[in-house]
Amino acid sequence: MFGKMSVRDLDVAGKTVFMRVDYNVPLNERQEVTDDTRIRASLETIGLLLDRGAKLILASHLGRPKGQHKLELGLKPVADRLAELVDHPIRFAQDCVGDEVKELADNLIPGEILLLENLRFHAEETSNDPEFSAALASLAELYVNDAFGTAHRAHASTEGMTKHFAQRAAGLLLERELTFLGGFLMNPNRPACGLLGGAKIGGKLPVIENLIKNLDTLMIGGGMAFTFFKALGLGIGESMVDESMMEIALQTIRNAKKDKHDIQLPVDVVIAREIADGTKVQVVLPTDIPDGWMGLDIGPKTIERYSDVIQASKSVFWNGPMGVFEVPSFARGTHSLAKVIAETTAQGATTVIGGGDSVAAITSLSLTDGFTHVSTGGGASLEFMEGKMLPGVAALSDAKEAMV
Ligand code: AMP
Repeated sequence: MFGKMSVRDLDVAGKTVFMRVDYNVPLNERQEVTDDTRIRASLETIGLLLDRGAKLILASHLGRPKGQHKLELGLKPVADRLAELVDHPIRFAQDCVGDEVKELADNLIPGEILLLENLRFHAEETSNDPEFSAALASLAELYVNDAFGTAHRAHASTEGMTKHFAQRAAGLLLERELTFLGGFLMNPNRPACGLLGGAKIGGKLPVIENLIKNLDTLMIGGGMAFTFFKALGLGIGESMVDESMMEIALQTIRNAKKDKHDIQLPVDVVIAREIADGTKVQVVLPTDIPDGWMGLDIGPKTIERYSDVIQASKSVFWNGPMGVFEVPSFARGTHSLAKVIAETTAQGATTVIGGGDSVAAITSLSLTDGFTHVSTGGGASLEFMEGKMLPGVAALSDAKEAMV
């Protein structure tokens, strides 16, 4: 598991464990949790720790309160939801540091949970303030991080406070992320392919550069394809483009060609004059986009080509939709490939998906079970695939320390 200590390696009986979780969940105006997926996702690690007799402190951020105590971003609704999901007593602290919190933490008994208030009510959390980090760390004896979505940030709860613990372990969720993303990055079953789409090309070009070394084919779709097309000298009408990335995009293609890596761009695109469902669309070659029209999805020939590659692969990594999938007229590329990947999973391939929008697409199709691993961290999974060591992962103890 990427050489890091696992929560399974900790001797937690009778000890207080501080666990960073990702409870950044949506709330409605009545302060109710409208999607508890992230809370449910934490139950496995919570169960393991409590069954082994830990006293458990849970801490998370929610939204962007920017250092202010914002009532509507409090974690009390999460505490209420968690209480419905676990059979253990749950206490809720009105803050995450301070004397009252310390007293609550000191009075915990094995099998009890203390959920702290939103970490980001203190600006010191995101500024990774040493004193704040020390105050958080003073609450517990062992540290566990199960929040992959924030592992790419060096914050007090993900990095600063870890310096105060001799043992810092990955929770089961984080461990799973490292196993699947790390496995894909280092040593995927071949043939292996990647499918990258979406709008923000800037964050994805470094991923292409790093991933392509271990892939047999890398396929590109979504709005980012048009930056490549424009960089190659094609007219792209009103399609989205990031001019500042054109030179690097061109270089990426040149590097891929030079190293004989197979990088594929759409061979046909669905175009329209406006982003509206039911509007008039045409399917054209990428060389034939007229002025006034924009590319909003990959076309049927591209779907066929990309499907063939996916079906022939033993490992598939996908990040970013193939078109403006939120509008049904431009969702076909994303939906078709999601289904093909799910079928390929059923045939034994290892399939990994990351990124909020692609995950939203497969969720809307009830296809999340059709993937081997659905990553919980959009930005974190991309940075990981770029080959960067995430600060929240780097901060964990090495696995070999569990042996001594
Ligand atoms: P990202 O966050 O970079 O993964 O981008 C996701 C967004 O890209 C989604 O909201 C899609 O609607 C958008 N998108 C995908 N393809 C296109 C396209 N051809 N033109 C404009 N936006 C697109």
